[in-house]
Amino acid sequence: MKPQSEKTVFWVGTFHGSHDGLPAKVTATHDDTRLEPYVWTCTCGASRSFPTVHGVFDTAWRHTHPSRFDRLRSWATRRFRTAR
Ligand SMILES: [Zn+2]
Repeated sequence: MKPQSEKTVFWVGTFHGSHDGLPAKVTATHDDTRLEPYVWTCTCGASRSFPTVHGVFDTAWRHTHPSRFDRLRSWATRRFRTAR
């Protein structure tokens, strides 16, 4: 994340996990000046924004802890891509 000089960004939560066989860390922040104040970003470059805190923790946790279904889906996506 970019360094913030203004005090509008507040830490919401950090999620440690892994996906695609690599460690991943998601940091969630809250900033009232943004259109969607709640944002999380992952060390892999992925990010999501939300109008409220609802959904932030679920999606951040799921991003760093893919379920069996998510892994199957990404495996199927890779299979589909290589089959083309
Ligand atoms: Zn990630």
